[in-house]
Amino acid sequence: MANKERLRQHLETMSKFTATPNEGMTRYSYSPEDVKTRTYIKEKMEQYGLTVSEDGLGNIFGKLEGTKESAPSVLIGSHFDSVPHGGNYDGPAGIMAGLEVAALFQEYGIKPAYPLEVIALIEEEGSRFGGGLMGSRGINGLITDEEFHTILDKDGISVIEAMQEAGLDSSLPKHRDPKTMKAFLELHIEQGPVLEEENITIGVVDAIVGLTQFEVTVEGKAGHAGTTPMGRRSDALITAATIVSELPKLAIDEGNGTVITTGQFAVFPNGSNVIPDKVVFSIDLRSGEDVSIQRVMEKVQALIESHQKDGIQTSIEQQLYIKPKELSEEIRSYLKESTEKLGISSIPMLSGAGHDAMVFSDYTEAGMIFIPSKDGLSHCPEEWSSLEHLAKGVDILFETAKKLTEAE
Ligand SMILES: [Zn+2]
Repeated sequence: MANKERLRQHLETMSKFTATPNEGMTRYSYSPEDVKTRTYIKEKMEQYGLTVSEDGLGNIFGKLEGTKESAPSVLIGSHFDSVPHGGNYDGPAGIMAGLEVAALFQEYGIKPAYPLEVIALIEEEGSRFGGGLMGSRGINGLITDEEFHTILDKDGISVIEAMQEAGLDSSLPKHRDPKTMKAFLELHIEQGPVLEEENITIGVVDAIVGLTQFEVTVEGKAGHAGTTPMGRRSDALITAATIVSELPKLAIDEGNGTVITTGQFAVFPNGSNVIPDKVVFSIDLRSGEDVSIQRVMEKVQALIESHQKDGIQTSIEQQLYIKPKELSEEIRSYLKESTEKLGISSIPMLSGAGHDAMVFSDYTEAGMIFIPSKDGLSHCPEEWSSLEHLAKGVDILFETAKKLTEAE
């Protein structure tokens, strides 16, 4: 089963390739740290008997051919870019898992019928080029070739220019025919506290939550903080604050893992001695079930309307809506069976964050597992998961990959 020493070596090596040593993992796509990491990943792929290739975006593939003629591949992997000052596990844990599955195929001399491919994806976080999920979206044809010339980083460097600077060949094909994929498997750290608190090793992801975002505007009337009597004010901030304080209850009442957040809040004119005449704030609403999103959305709209009164105008604008994505039922059942066979504790879970598996799920059978995150922390230097849990996750992926790559 999974070799913890090999996993430890991957972790130790990849963790060194950061632009901010001792201040967490900062690894932007096509940076010198990306290049060092990519060299290591490719070396290991070769060592485990995989044929290495890159696409026109710099996504890396290591392929173990199958015995079946031109059969689609079972892909295992994740991304290797990071947020600024992030951790060593978000993304790379899934690549280490893919590498280790390949090492096990080699060690056990397994000749699969369907090819096994370890995949290392670029720019999932969007820390350099914004938007996020660029590697998986590019592979699946959701971004056109021309767009890669116009997607710029903060210094005005395009994806294509950045690739050239890193010595990568952007003229290679970027889009992959979905017919070449049989399945996509991803191991990821949970980035939340549930598995650790429940003392469970593996979360089998049922669905990736849907989300909607709104911008709410409350308008009142400005006035002098000293001379306007309390009874004669149209204070936009008091109304906005009241609305925000009433939002959590809507999510709690709905249950079903529904969460609601206000993360942006702007007060105008923002002077300490002026009654605010305008407040603009965000609402981010997520749930695993579309009906829950719809129901809470209606309640949010009603709540905001109910605060409309003399001197106070409220309005709400929807800015984003993404449906929840259910992952492959077949793969979920294989993952579940594997946990049972190996005696590893597991629970079904929702993913509150977007992942590459979510993009792949529209084009192939996609499955995903989570391993526990210490104190639920992620996107920070303290992010940590145990090698023990990572190894258990690998064992489950190994079982599942064997099943998916064998002849039917
Ligand atoms: Zn990630």
